[in-house]
Amino acid sequence: MKPALLVVDMLKEFVHGRLRSPEASRIIPVIKDLASAMHNRGFPVIYLADHHYQFDHELSIWGPHAMHNDPESEIIEELRPGPSDIVLYKRSYSGFRETGLDYILRDLGVDTVIITGIHTHICVLHTAIDAFYNRYQVIVVEDAVSAFSRSDHEWALNYMKTTLGCRIMKSKEVIEFISSK
Ligand code: ZN
Repeated sequence: MKPALLVVDMLKEFVHGRLRSPEASRIIPVIKDLASAMHNRGFPVIYLADHHYQFDHELSIWGPHAMHNDPESEIIEELRPGPSDIVLYKRSYSGFRETGLDYILRDLGVDTVIITGIHTHICVLHTAIDAFYNRYQVIVVEDAVSAFSRSDHEWALNYMKTTLGCRIMKSKEVIEFISSK
């Protein structure tokens, strides 16, 4: 079994900026610990970053966010990707859609994705759905994903567990899991 850590949308605008939430800030140190556990074992860490152009379909729903050329669209300093990490840009919710993620995971021999980041019921959920369709085992780290509302967060965790077969685990267990591989 070979895992990859996926870090979804930990962008300045979403964490500290205009669309910030205390929940998003709270998961930063947890993701940091998971990333260093992955680095220690030589497993891949892949950042997925929302990145939009003015004409993107999704903007009709949410308005402009994570816009191309906006410095706020960068990944937060606290989780700045290291030299061996991979950064992929996405123009919709799923980290798999038109990003090349599936080929990268296949080339790396990855069979298990560990999903972290924001928001539990939007981009995390859609990334988990595509991971399911692409036949990956999925672990969602419940204290390393967040949403603005507790009910959206809990609804999505439950959906990913019951409908997609994701394993919902705490970061402490996941770090033990990574270290044992
Ligand atoms: Zn978006």
